[in-house]
Amino acid sequence: MDDLKRRVAELHEEALVWDSHACLPLHPDADVDALERHRANGVNFVSINVGMDMNPLPQIMAVIASFRAQLQANPKRFVAALDTDDVLRAKAEGKLAVAFDLEGGVPLGGRPEMVQLFYDLGVRQIHLAYNRNNSIGGGCYDQDIPLSLLGRRIVRAINEAGMLMDCSHTGYRTSLDIMAVSEAPVIYSHANPLALADNGRNIKDEQIDACVATGGVVCVNGIGRFLGDPEAGTAAILRHIDYLVQRIGADHVGLGLDYEYDLGLDQDPPGFDRAYWFPPAHGYGKDGPRSKIATPEQFPEITAGLLRMGYAEADARKILGENMLAVAKRVWRPRVAAT
Ligand SMILES: [Zn+2]
Repeated sequence: MDDLKRRVAELHEEALVWDSHACLPLHPDADVDALERHRANGVNFVSINVGMDMNPLPQIMAVIASFRAQLQANPKRFVAALDTDDVLRAKAEGKLAVAFDLEGGVPLGGRPEMVQLFYDLGVRQIHLAYNRNNSIGGGCYDQDIPLSLLGRRIVRAINEAGMLMDCSHTGYRTSLDIMAVSEAPVIYSHANPLALADNGRNIKDEQIDACVATGGVVCVNGIGRFLGDPEAGTAAILRHIDYLVQRIGADHVGLGLDYEYDLGLDQDPPGFDRAYWFPPAHGYGKDGPRSKIATPEQFPEITAGLLRMGYAEADARKILGENMLAVAKRVWRPRVAAT
């Protein structure tokens, strides 16, 4: 093994690797064991989606119940993470820590107190609109509207619960409003700079800067159409990381590759209007170009790429996971010891 290869292997092994967003099918029969691919590629924490704005509450509840039960039934491989101590313990024991995220605020049913209920069920990250506008605020593929009064109350509830406030999939004005109102750091769990790839899901420099002003982290998304590379190659991911590091510094950049485990289950809710949620005009579906997603196997390649590009090992560690660990430490509530 040459010197660089050895350094890469050691760094990837030692670093805390945090994937801010991945997807299992939103189906209670989805086998959580599929996440073994994350663990096998050196990932120590992953946040998985349990619902989007188009999913009815019974579907979301069935998915949370199933995923929780499966994680708890596999303590040799998984840790159902409630706080950052759980993440560090998973790392020390060679396990994968898993927490849940919600993609959109519609499942809150207009009730800010639902945030705490979802927190109690293991949800540690939420964004308020999924691609389309709702009563809380704007989605990224819709008319650009501000955060509503209800939205302001929900941001406060998210801050109070200790959940990570995420602005992925959110419209421009609403995202800036959220970042101005939030009293805790705001993250982009899976969003790329618009300057490198022109898609409505990507974010302007003003949004990137506003996120940093909250003390947040921008995590690079691995979907080809958002990388400007249909193949979702590691070189494209590294370009997006480097753009962010040049602009905002290594302390505010992370990874949320958005890998979607395709387990052959139908997760679409009844009456699902694909073209509404995923507009073909933005590159989705039959009319858009095909686009791959970066795989968990690319995590070690990202580590290698950062070192090859001359990144200091300390900076590579921050990007791989320490930045997200630090922000979660500030935001999530530490678990109260049982008495
Ligand atoms: Zn997403």
